Amino acid sequence: APRAPLRRAEIVIDLAAIRNNVSRLREHLRTPIMTVVKADGYGHGLVEAGRAARQGGADWLGVASADEALVLRAAGDEGRLLAWLIMPSEPAEDLVAADIDVTAYTVADLEKFAAAGDALGRTPRVQLKVDTGLSRGGAAFADWSNLVARARILEAEGAIRVTGIWSHFSASENTADPISALQEKVFGEALAVAEEAGLRPEVRHLANSAGALLRPSARLDLVRVGIATYGIDPAPGVEGSPWAELGLVPAMTVRAELAMVKQIEAGAGVSYNHTWVAEEPTTVGLIPVGYAEGIQRRAGNRASVWVDGARRPVRGTICMDQIVVELRDASVEPGAEVLLWGTGADGEPTAQDWAEASETIAYEVVTRIGGRMKRRYV
Ligand code: PLP
Repeated sequence: APRAPLRRAEIVIDLAAIRNNVSRLREHLRTPIMTVVKADGYGHGLVEAGRAARQGGADWLGVASADEALVLRAAGDEGRLLAWLIMPSEPAEDLVAADIDVTAYTVADLEKFAAAGDALGRTPRVQLKVDTGLSRGGAAFADWSNLVARARILEAEGAIRVTGIWSHFSASENTADPISALQEKVFGEALAVAEEAGLRPEVRHLANSAGALLRPSARLDLVRVGIATYGIDPAPGVEGSPWAELGLVPAMTVRAELAMVKQIEAGAGVSYNHTWVAEEPTTVGLIPVGYAEGIQRRAGNRASVWVDGARRPVRGTICMDQIVVELRDASVEPGAEVLLWGTGADGEPTAQDWAEASETIAYEVVTRIGGRMKRRYV
């Protein structure tokens, strides 16, 4: 774990880990990669994660919102960049002017992008998204041929260029769920409809991290890898996963100093509502972060943190700005270092451990972290 003077609490981001994870993934998957950096780079920093990913060989970056894409461009990113959640209220001119590939779900989206291109005298790069079973964004299969037909006409007029066709898995981390094979099949049918209509996109893509790692048949021309970039296993415990052999490293460590250390007596109830009561005299420490920093409140009494070379249990309810940890025999003073989570290399808890303690997924653990904590890049 990184060692540096610590003031209160901080989120340490290992950019070399992101860089190496991307290059390892690229090498293993043998497919061009779109690194997904939405949601502030899954809590690792949008611009910084994007830059590290490019250095690791990311062929594309992927984001949800128009703002995220524009921030990346303003920070100097010049590579291929796809945005997929552009709102009806948002003008498309800035995106088209910045050479961002935009995603169309509907004919109205196509018309909007074409109009923006017309106003600017440019040809927008448009990707079409088809819903193959997630029932989230994208054209319903029943509307697909209509979307394709309109895209083909606009392309023939020079009003847009269709650069990609894509879809998104519903349960690729669950290899027992037949939905993934079905989605691949539906996607194949959607591609056939587009080809029949005369569309010849540069890239066809379907797989997220778990899809890319667990379903070679879904890699196609490009994979959209988010969580694995940050060294977090998208499918923990799944049999046959290549995860362990990949050797990817978690990029986020959350560390804090102990605000105080004190003895409590047998029978003392700890934190709000005394959801934990000391059975014997013990030592507790105070960690100066809480749910206002995005720490999962549900992890109270269930998560552990790393202090003085061992995992120490969180005791009682997690508060807005404080967590109580039972230190037992740890020999530490106020100001000592606590790792809430890190790489796990020395035995410290990981974001995945916090996810399990909070009955959620590690995606939520890392994207929520923030509040008053600052990030430091190493
Ligand atoms: N593609 C799309 C459309 C997404 O929304 C996401 C994230 O949820 C991803 C790819 C990346 O998924 P993962 O982080 O599981 O790799």
